[in-house]
Amino acid sequence: CECRWSVGLAWTLSWVIQNVNVLTRVFQDKQYVGFATLPNQVHRKSVKKGFDFTLMVAGESGLGKSTLVNSLFLTDLYKDRKLLNAEERINQTVEITKHTVDIEEKGVKLKLTIVDTPGFGDAVNNNECWKPITDYIDQQFEQYFRDESGLNRKNILDNRVHCCLYFIPPFGHGLRPVDVEFMKALHEKVNIVPLISKADCLTPNEVKKLKDRVRDEIEHFGIKVYQFPECDSDEEEEFKQMDKELKECTPFAVIGSNTVVEARGQRVRGRLYPWGIVEVENQSHCDFVKLRNMLIRSHMHDLKDVTCDVHYENYRAHCIQEMTSKLAQDNRTDSPLPILPLPTPDVETERLIKMKDEELKRMQEMLEKMQQQMHEKDQ
Ligand code: GDP
Repeated sequence: CECRWSVGLAWTLSWVIQNVNVLTRVFQDKQYVGFATLPNQVHRKSVKKGFDFTLMVAGESGLGKSTLVNSLFLTDLYKDRKLLNAEERINQTVEITKHTVDIEEKGVKLKLTIVDTPGFGDAVNNNECWKPITDYIDQQFEQYFRDESGLNRKNILDNRVHCCLYFIPPFGHGLRPVDVEFMKALHEKVNIVPLISKADCLTPNEVKKLKDRVRDEIEHFGIKVYQFPECDSDEEEEFKQMDKELKECTPFAVIGSNTVVEARGQRVRGRLYPWGIVEVENQSHCDFVKLRNMLIRSHMHDLKDVTCDVHYENYRAHCIQEMTSKLAQDNRTDSPLPILPLPTPDVETERLIKMKDEELKRMQEMLEKMQQQMHEKDQ
């Protein structure tokens, strides 16, 4: 028996040695299936395809929109811009213009589309001046909805607006009625990020006061601006701190500049005044860096997600509801014709009907008489 045991053991050992390669693979496969590379695959695919982002800028002309966009993306998107004089602006309607640039950084491509809204708030009568802007946003949703329901769903060109930077002037005491109306008209359709423009016109104390006031008014008027997502509890402390600072500094007070100046021995983007230099990227001068980090580094993906999952879904649900109720209405009109009351006969027709009735009655009587006679004959 002992001999059989040792033979069995020796045979098992030799089998294990022979199949060691197969066994290692089986055990390895159990620990490592391979899907851990999925993020890399997705990342590689996205990087190859490139990213796209559509940013809208809105606010009265002269508030520094084009300067800020150029400063944000270090491009000159507005070289062909034609500035209108006061007379031309009196009756000017809001005209939407689109600029697209392909930016590449360390092999990552970004197709950036800037939707500008020149003319907003410039006319003498600014009644419903936001209508062309809301219509534009809806048109992009509509186009996407059509493409998505069509046959070629793979290569849909997504022109939906992912974010709208709304420029508030630094000169007033908070929001103006036109600001409130604009944001309320758009807040269900797009992620609004309010900005205090030309912040170099204000002292730090004034910036703080204006920010507090704008924040209060946004709440008071029930305006839904873009909400930064909650930070996960397992995030690193540094990230949590950044997130907290970001949330606290809204509305961002920004400064733009198309020129490079020399400050503290370095060449920086800034504004040169007789009394000093304002540096766009200096965090103690303004919130430009925080805005740029939020837009490009930390929240671009979330802005796109909210556009897709909230604003577009709202539009889609509304469209489907409208289509269903229209269909139901059409079905109702297609139903058999309603039974109309018969027209009441006139006197002559009534006389004729009576005559016919009497004739019929007489014929019936005759028929009955004949039947009776035949019956009597048979008996
Ligand atoms: P847009 O019409 O809103 O696009 O405004 P522009 O970008 O054309 O700027 C209008 C004027 O404001 C130009 O003279 C700019 O140089 C100036 N400007 C732009 N940004 C700032 C800023 O942050 N601070 C100050 N003080 N002036 C600015």
